[in-house]
Amino acid sequence: MAACIDLMGETLASLARGEALLPLRTVLRLPGQRNMFAAMPAVLGPSIGAKVITVFPDNEGTPFESHIGVVLYFENTNGRLLAIIDASSVTAIRTAAVSGLATRLLANPNARTLAILGSGVQAMTHLEAMCAVRGFTTVRVWSRHLPNAEAFAERARAQHGRTVEVVPTPEAAVRGADVICTTTSSREPIVQSEWVAPGAHINAVGASQATARELDSETVRRARLYVDRRESVMAEAGDFLIPREEGVVDNTHVLGELGEVVLGRVAGRTGPGDVTLFKSLGIAIEDVASARFIYERARELGTGTWVAIGGMR
Ligand code: NDP
Repeated sequence: MAACIDLMGETLASLARGEALLPLRTVLRLPGQRNMFAAMPAVLGPSIGAKVITVFPDNEGTPFESHIGVVLYFENTNGRLLAIIDASSVTAIRTAAVSGLATRLLANPNARTLAILGSGVQAMTHLEAMCAVRGFTTVRVWSRHLPNAEAFAERARAQHGRTVEVVPTPEAAVRGADVICTTTSSREPIVQSEWVAPGAHINAVGASQATARELDSETVRRARLYVDRRESVMAEAGDFLIPREEGVVDNTHVLGELGEVVLGRVAGRTGPGDVTLFKSLGIAIEDVASARFIYERARELGTGTWVAIGGMR
């Protein structure tokens, strides 16, 4: 996780320097369902790649994760396909790592209380990422189904040696928290501004469509808002687009991209009382950079499975 947080910092800085090509993602909603099929291509310096995944919120209660697919990684000399990598793991880790970067850049340095809303895949990797960048002494988790929050707390103890307090409402998690991660598939706000303490930092991760959000409009209005990519937020982020539609904020409310903060081109927090907000959507260069990193490590370590794919004359 620590390596991925640094990698995401370099990757988003590359985007800010204009070294990446990426269109908005293509998302096909399956007829009559809320499940989706998505393709996310990108070129990042010498790396070419794409994530191709199904996003099945309906997998809830089945043995399958909600994000399943592959990241394809190519080189730019002969256009060879170099690697096919599990997208579930890459998505789980890189998303939390970007939130880790945002928290490292934007949260108060003495943050001690962490609130996690949701108890799924992203909730667990966010716990790991948050603990990599701040010294939390209290971690609270809320989930819609209490037994899932309890199971999360058990896993957190077993996998990360962390004690996590299970709380019955989002309000009980958010009140007094220094850092708040929203990692749910909710389409309606689960965070109310009146619960958010001055000085808090929020990573809003769960809602990736224009019609879904996890934060109420006032939370967004109050916050200094940072994003992974402006263009994506203007098309895909209900957490921003719904308050904008209501006339609560306008486009100038987006202060900058994380990569611009990394490069020092955009200021972060101005004082300990600011509420800062990172709106995460997830962008393809995060997957391509992760794929390059994994491919290079696999070569060094002699791991992975070699297969002949074709493409030779
Ligand atoms: P999981 O299926 O593992 O977990 C989903 C979580 O959402 C569960 O904790 C569930 O709670 C909760 N949830 C579902 N519906 C609701 C609801 N109506 N109200 C409140 N909570 C709800 O998914 P992931 O952890 O993989 O992903 C979580 C979210 O993050 C998804 O929306 C996903 O699309 C998004 N995501 C965003 C990324 C980004 O880059 N920004 C990347 C990857 C995912 P319970 O189990 O208690 O019902």
